[in-house]
Amino acid sequence: MYSVCEMPSVSIDEYLEVLWTLRVDRNQPGKIRDVAKLLKIAPPSVFQMFEKMRMQGLIKYDKRSGADFTRKGKRRARHIVRSHKLVEKLLVDIVGVKLGEVERPACGAEHYLPEEVADAICIYLKHPRECPHGDPIPKGKCCPQRKV
Ligand SMILES: [Zn+2]
Ligand SMILES: [Zn+2]
Repeated sequence: MYSVCEMPSVSIDEYLEVLWTLRVDRNQPGKIRDVAKLLKIAPPSVFQMFEKMRMQGLIKYDKRSGADFTRKGKRRARHIVRSHKLVEKLLVDIVGVKLGEVERPACGAEHYLPEEVADAICIYLKHPRECPHGDPIPKGKCCPQRKV
């Protein structure tokens, strides 16, 4: 089957992922400087993207406290991060891909997995808590005792 891939917001997803790492994993504000460093992008470009994301209702931005998620943004970010880590886990544990080779496919897949597919992988892997790098996998609807 041939179908055209349409995913206009791949780069927004990268920002959401970095903000998740800062705010949720490290409990730090989403400062432009830190996001710029993590994405290896110039601060003015980060500022521009924050503006775009603010217009789309994904983040709030304040100079002092940095960027933070809206409900909508956090939901999308959780799904991206979760998809990335579930795909890593699937490829390493089940398919036997080497840990060093898993980043690119996981990075690609994270933008395209519907939530039902992420949940199906999660169920198949028995709701894993950590990715092969030892980072926490955010829980989904399918997971027992999900924190909201
Ligand atoms: Zn990982
Ligand atoms: Zn689950």
